[in-house]
Amino acid sequence: MKSSPWRSAAFLVAAGLALPIAFIVAHSGSAKSEPARPIDNDCSAGYAEFTFDDGPGVYTAKLLDRLNALHLKATFFAIGRNIDDGGPKAAALMRKLVATGHSVQNHTYDHASITGESTRKPPLTREQIVEELDHGSRAIVAAGLPSPTQYRPPYGDIDARADDVARELGYQLVSPWGVTDSNIVDSKDWSGASTEQIVSNVVNGYTSDGYRLNGIRDDTIVTMHDGGQQDTLNSIAALQPIVDYMNAHHLCSTATIRHDAIGGRVPAPPLPEPGGDNLVRNPSLERHHGDEPTCFQHAENDTGDTAGAAAWSQISGAHTGTAAEQVIVPRSAGGDRKLLISRDPSDSDCLAKVKSGHRYGTWLWYKGTWPEEGPTKTEVGMVVYYRQSSGDWKYWQTGPSVEPSATWKLTNFVTAPLPKGATAISFGLDIGGEGTLATDDYSMAAQSEQVAAVHR
Ligand SMILES: [Zn+2]
Repeated sequence: MKSSPWRSAAFLVAAGLALPIAFIVAHSGSAKSEPARPIDNDCSAGYAEFTFDDGPGVYTAKLLDRLNALHLKATFFAIGRNIDDGGPKAAALMRKLVATGHSVQNHTYDHASITGESTRKPPLTREQIVEELDHGSRAIVAAGLPSPTQYRPPYGDIDARADDVARELGYQLVSPWGVTDSNIVDSKDWSGASTEQIVSNVVNGYTSDGYRLNGIRDDTIVTMHDGGQQDTLNSIAALQPIVDYMNAHHLCSTATIRHDAIGGRVPAPPLPEPGGDNLVRNPSLERHHGDEPTCFQHAENDTGDTAGAAAWSQISGAHTGTAAEQVIVPRSAGGDRKLLISRDPSDSDCLAKVKSGHRYGTWLWYKGTWPEEGPTKTEVGMVVYYRQSSGDWKYWQTGPSVEPSATWKLTNFVTAPLPKGATAISFGLDIGGEGTLATDDYSMAAQSEQVAAVHR
């Protein structure tokens, strides 16, 4: 699996340059002078999630006028100190944001790096993390707004330890940085990009460090900044052409953030397993034929060459029932390994009927050990394939990395809407290098109703 290009320190430093600035009220006359062509379509292609960081700033009021004129909904990750420094006028502006359908959430009190990675400082202690988030929320609540339930770590600096602290406080991580092929669009307004570049970045996507980043589509998180100067003005000017594109492509916007907006850095809390029909046959791997669990296959070596074989075995000590499946991958072995829902044509009876346009939740239980650091660093994450109308299978998506666990742990990944013409889904947990990985208790269920509910 590829890791995220967004993790590079250079990007993070550059992205985090916006510092708290004094709040100055800028009266906007633009709403009158520039007639807007707002969002006006059937939303049939889905919803994108616009986010603005580092405000309130000098152009937040102007931005709000533009968003409202264009019928866009957004989430603002505000810096607590900026609200305090802006006094009653900043507080009134924040209330107006919420009153007109936008969401104001937590970007810490003073934009400190939680892990210290981008600022080359020691990581914040547990007490300091609590204080940064609590103080940020106190400033938002003092302005008369609802208490935040989401946070975005400054510079994108976050790890599982720090996120655990935030989760205990009741905050969901919304990180703009995603794995390759994710629906994350960084407008790169922070980089000094022109309005035209911002529009192109958002609409067309771009290539960064050899990775292809997609443009705006269903469930995209678009990141921009309202705490800046010219960069914020450039983003404001970019909104109309972006809305024109959204209307042409039947996209709308929502201030509701996707549940798995975790940036590929820390694992999302898994959704509960489906209670009803499981679309996976032989889900607990109890039945075997030959070497493999019935309706499953040992899949190997999609990439790389093999210098040593991996060892597959049925093991006891299962999560439920009496059998689980384990693979031991020696250091000498190349490529990746995963136990997949069988893609063998002779197993086609095992495959559930699926509908294009629906999202599917996939779940399985795993335990195992693998190196998380160093030259043999191994990544493990859900991989999903679909069967095309031709009968050929196509690699589709990879979920965020999961952490090693000595005890059984649940992991879950929700797919994008299934492409047109797809006739079946296969998935499994991929180990991309050396290590030991056991899996058990697979399940899959359509998620369409849940997603529709989220967007209401
Ligand atoms: Zn920021």
